[in-house]
Amino acid sequence: MGAIGFIGLGNMGGPMAANLAKAGHQVAGFDPSEAAQQQAEANGVRRTQTIAEAVQGAQTVISMLPAGPQVREVYSGPGGVLEHAPAQCLLIDCSTIDVDSARAVHTAAQERGYALLDAPVSGGVAGAQAGQLTFMVGGAEDAFECAKALFDIMGKAAIHAGPAGNGQVAKACNNMILGISMLAISEAFTLAERQGLDPQKLFEISSQASGSCWAMLNHNPVPGLVETAASNRDYAPGFSAEMMWKDLKLAQDAAMRASVSTPMGSNAQALYAALVNAGWGGKDYSAIYRLLRGEAPE
Ligand code: NAD
Repeated sequence: MGAIGFIGLGNMGGPMAANLAKAGHQVAGFDPSEAAQQQAEANGVRRTQTIAEAVQGAQTVISMLPAGPQVREVYSGPGGVLEHAPAQCLLIDCSTIDVDSARAVHTAAQERGYALLDAPVSGGVAGAQAGQLTFMVGGAEDAFECAKALFDIMGKAAIHAGPAGNGQVAKACNNMILGISMLAISEAFTLAERQGLDPQKLFEISSQASGSCWAMLNHNPVPGLVETAASNRDYAPGFSAEMMWKDLKLAQDAAMRASVSTPMGSNAQALYAALVNAGWGGKDYSAIYRLLRGEAPE
């Protein structure tokens, strides 16, 4: 089993690294957060003090970081992956970031002789823990083939989306659908309840009718309808409102650059900005339901 350097051991990266270790890989992890390091260590990941130490002897480097600036820094900054990874090492960035950063890091890696894949994921923390993520992958086809065995450990599906950056394009579009669907569900369930229709009844009907969608069935914002939904845990994330806002901004930036009109995406971005500004950025994105009902944060 090949050695893996794993950079970024947070809510998503931690369980992804743990699953690779459980499958028998030697995983060396780096994260500046002590809590993240401790949790990963308890799950079989060897902790390291620097990126250089984490990538030493690695066949593959995987990163799972908050946003574009951190990814540029971790790969191209001083002491970063591109200075220290062994020759022939395959680099896989699973963070959700802007297409420009993804393509810039890809070019920098290529100039140093490395193959790099942008491979953002869908499936959330539960999917990361269960090894049930979906990977959307941009980069060379042969590099994708090399990475498939690792995607199979961490996920249930990996789809090659085309050249460098296309994984991030797919992710921005997918999450724009998710953000907009959550708003539609929140409005519909509020309207139903205020018109005297029990939310449980609307759920029973719509989940078997044309209004059914993934967010309604899995992340329902109304407490008591879907047992595993964040709405039953006081909207503890899950997938934070702040992350959803970030993803919607990425989609709007891309839309602007491509001169594509996305009015629903634009409205969704404004509403999630309001949720974050109301102090609920750390809550699950499904808490938008509470904001739309006119409820203030506690
Ligand atoms: P997180 O904040 O829990 O984890 C990010 C980790 O990166 C943190 O532990 C942080 O300490 C670490 N980090 C920051 N700068 C670093 C650096 N320079 N070197 C090494 N480590 C560094 O975030 P997360 O929820 O794990 O999300 C990570 C990425 O996955 C984001 O891009 C997010 O959009 C994406 N994502 C998240 C979810 C979700 O449900 N949480 C779902 C799909 C995709």
